[in-house]
Amino acid sequence: MTVVATAGPIADAIAAGELPGRVWLYSNYHCNLACSYCLTESSPRSERRQLTPELMLGVAGEAAALGFTGLGVTGGEPMLLAWLPDTIASMAEHLPVVVLTNGTLFVGDRIKRARPLARDGVAVQISLDSHLSDVNDMARGPDNFAKVVEAVPQLIALGVRVRIATTTAGPLDDPALEPLKELVLSLGVAPEDHLVRPIVRRGRADERGLGVAAVARDIPSELTITADGAYWGSFGPTVRAGRLDTDLLITRTVLPLSVPANALLSAVRGLPPGNDANLGIR
Ligand code: SF4
Repeated sequence: MTVVATAGPIADAIAAGELPGRVWLYSNYHCNLACSYCLTESSPRSERRQLTPELMLGVAGEAAALGFTGLGVTGGEPMLLAWLPDTIASMAEHLPVVVLTNGTLFVGDRIKRARPLARDGVAVQISLDSHLSDVNDMARGPDNFAKVVEAVPQLIALGVRVRIATTTAGPLDDPALEPLKELVLSLGVAPEDHLVRPIVRRGRADERGLGVAAVARDIPSELTITADGAYWGSFGPTVRAGRLDTDLLITRTVLPLSVPANALLSAVRGLPPGNDANLGIR
């Protein structure tokens, strides 16, 4: 991995804890599932709003040079993009990458597609919401549970670092999550790689009245790059009633990355971030 030594306002702000170190990229918005609480209203029919491999690699290189410390890739379902595993591997030459996936596209023979992800600096984060298949599948779709419990041990056997993310409507420390924690451990995932997080009331979750309401200050101010511009936080570029939310959009410019990074830093400091986005975050 090549991490260029950096100095400058972004590196300083990250070192001071003023700005989070991770940059998120929404590789695409379409998905093979249509989960009940999806922030982006993703489904097989969603508009793709896709990034290119070149743009993602450009963001990775510039993020490292500016002083960011990690990358995240999410969607939609990133693994619907055939080129994504190779691009993730190349991005990891610059900074550690975590890629979020529903895990359902690794079953059977398709596990081979994950080979580029079996390397240092890459973690694959897979969603699993319950130890009960019917409860899990009610929110996430038929056979989701079976596909995930099949894929996780195979990914680990391939040498991929796997994390599990559980999204819950209940308390994060709910004792009812214990059987799920035991299941995750039995699949070969370490307890520190099992994240439990709340449903955030944006996107489809908002339409259905699910989860916790959040304003900008409740959302980690991680720089988030999409085909439509740069956002405050990975919970920013959500879709509701078919329309992209712009309340957390900070600028339409994504490269050079210094433009959205400095705009975000200004917004975090309570200053006007620029004039090419309709800001409603303060
Ligand atoms: S929550 Fe994830 S897996 Fe479910 S529909 Fe949305 S993008 Fe797809």
